[in-house]
Amino acid sequence: KIRVRFAPSPTGGLHLGGVRTVLYNYLFARGLGGKFILRIEDTDQSRFVPGAEDYIMDCLRWCGMEPDESPEAGGPFGPYRQSERKPSYRAFAEQLVQSGKAYYAFDTPAELEEMRNRFKTAENPTPQYDHHLRSKMRNSLSMGEDEVRRLIGEGVPYVIRIKMPADEVVSFTDMIRGEVRFNTGIVDDKVLLKQDGMPTYHLAVVVDDHAMEISHAFRGEEWLPSAPVHVLLWEYLGWKNSMPQFAHLPLILKPDGNGKLSKRDGDRLGFPVFAMNWSDPRTGDFTQGFRERGFLPEAFVNLLAMLGWNDGTGTELFSMEELISAFSMDRVHKGGAKFDFEKAKWFNHEWIKRSSADRLLPDVRQHLEAAGITANDDHYTKTVIDLVKERCTLLPDFAEQAGFFFNRPAPPDLQPLAAKWSPEKTTFFRELGPALATLQHWTAADIEACFKDLAQQHSLKVGELQLPLRLLLVGGKFGPAVFSIAATIGREETISRIGAFRM
Ligand code: GLU
Repeated sequence: KIRVRFAPSPTGGLHLGGVRTVLYNYLFARGLGGKFILRIEDTDQSRFVPGAEDYIMDCLRWCGMEPDESPEAGGPFGPYRQSERKPSYRAFAEQLVQSGKAYYAFDTPAELEEMRNRFKTAENPTPQYDHHLRSKMRNSLSMGEDEVRRLIGEGVPYVIRIKMPADEVVSFTDMIRGEVRFNTGIVDDKVLLKQDGMPTYHLAVVVDDHAMEISHAFRGEEWLPSAPVHVLLWEYLGWKNSMPQFAHLPLILKPDGNGKLSKRDGDRLGFPVFAMNWSDPRTGDFTQGFRERGFLPEAFVNLLAMLGWNDGTGTELFSMEELISAFSMDRVHKGGAKFDFEKAKWFNHEWIKRSSADRLLPDVRQHLEAAGITANDDHYTKTVIDLVKERCTLLPDFAEQAGFFFNRPAPPDLQPLAAKWSPEKTTFFRELGPALATLQHWTAADIEACFKDLAQQHSLKVGELQLPLRLLLVGGKFGPAVFSIAATIGREETISRIGAFRM
């Protein structure tokens, strides 16, 4: 049974690396008919940020990756918020103490601070609570049993720490990296249960992956150093045989390949790094998102999939359905993928081109409205979308490329140009409106034919007449085929825009 999970801590907006983790989980589960679970890891209440969980749900919805089980949807393994599972963790921590794999530690924050200062050396600037130092601290390994019982009886606060073996090799097979080995001696005695009875991430992730029957755990590479602790916990709790298969996904790197892509790189280089806009309610810090920058979710998903995976054929454009059938973990790269915003934009441009006007309508309308352009008529707006979408890389480009279809542009100043015109040319533009008024059918082809006829009558070349016409209709030198523009905006509007030119 395939069951995978995305297990974010609700501490802020989602970085594109986080969304890629969701995506690979999702593709893997969907491709194999498994279940995709969202579990909120909110046991660190000091890092809890209001709104972050809703943001995560919105983001999954925007990307089209609805979980099968989640705090919102429920499911047979709920609750799906760790804070609501609090009573389930302590027994496992106690079980580990009983079996000698963990211990009580009574050290106060001041004592821990003192320890770090006392044992600090040039080679070891941040001493860890580990097999070297645990005997010098106040815990159930260094103190007598009676003393421990007395402290607990008096209600002195304590945490439960894992007792990392001094010198053992822990190994597991990572689906991306193959066999990974760690020496336990370099890992500290991580806290498993905090003073307030809340588990830490390390205990909660193992207990819940077990309780929720997770078969595969895919997560960012930054969790690799924690893996030996988790592997030992699976073993110590007697669950080794049901341990999920791990895959630690490579980082998404800065454009120059120098380290992990951060929110600050985005700010500095002017591109989004989060999925959607995020304002931190505590600091007011704002981070721009791909969605608001004008990316289609189809493009966002596609470009994320390609940051660390390909199908080996050189194909770059994939819909979600196509990704589901093509994706496999064995083609995920080991090395980090450099993020390239120009390439990201290319994906969006391709997706705008290949999307129907029906699909684009709601998104485009939103961006037009944001630019103060009202687009009420669906049929008309879809015609416009089809005419200009080739020219739009990001959704806000529609406002720029299509604004003149909705609002008459300010009449251009043709005088400097027209001053050099022959009398025939001036006459041509004076007669064009009345000629168009007599047309039987208002189609691009008929308008063009009428335009050409009139040009011929005055022995003028069509080529030199099109730019002034464009300037009159568009208010600029851009836009799709000029006769299509006239056909779309309609006869009355076309004649009226041409009429704005007076000689
Ligand atoms: N809560 C962890 C995070 O925020 C989950 C890591 C994992 O998937 O084990 O990324």
